[in-house]
Amino acid sequence: MASTETHTNCLRCGRKLTSPRSIAAGYGPTCGRHIRRATVDLSEYKPHQIASARDLIEDAAIIPLRGHVFTTISTDGTETYLTHPTNCTCPAGRQAVRCYHQLAARLLLAA
Ligand SMILES: [Zn+2]
Ligand SMILES: [Zn+2]
Repeated sequence: MASTETHTNCLRCGRKLTSPRSIAAGYGPTCGRHIRRATVDLSEYKPHQIASARDLIEDAAIIPLRGHVFTTISTDGTETYLTHPTNCTCPAGRQAVRCYHQLAARLLLAA
């Protein structure tokens, strides 16, 4: 099971993380910078969804699984979903709603 607590290797490039800040974030400084600067078409999303997607990434609650599929952890930490840039197994995603999980996946893939 994926842990949101600590990460020994960068979730993006797999390099070993050394600083406590990187270990908590799940990304090294370079990858973190790439992710913060990543831009995708945000016109389909509301500002609070964009903020939630950024939070999800900063909390390392979205973890690459394979290919373009990510494991995301629900806000209360009790559930995990499978997220792809265009679909998601969360309650909103199952109703074909564009959830912020999908946006976070898009941002990570664009980084
Ligand atoms: Zn990295
Ligand atoms: Zn979702």
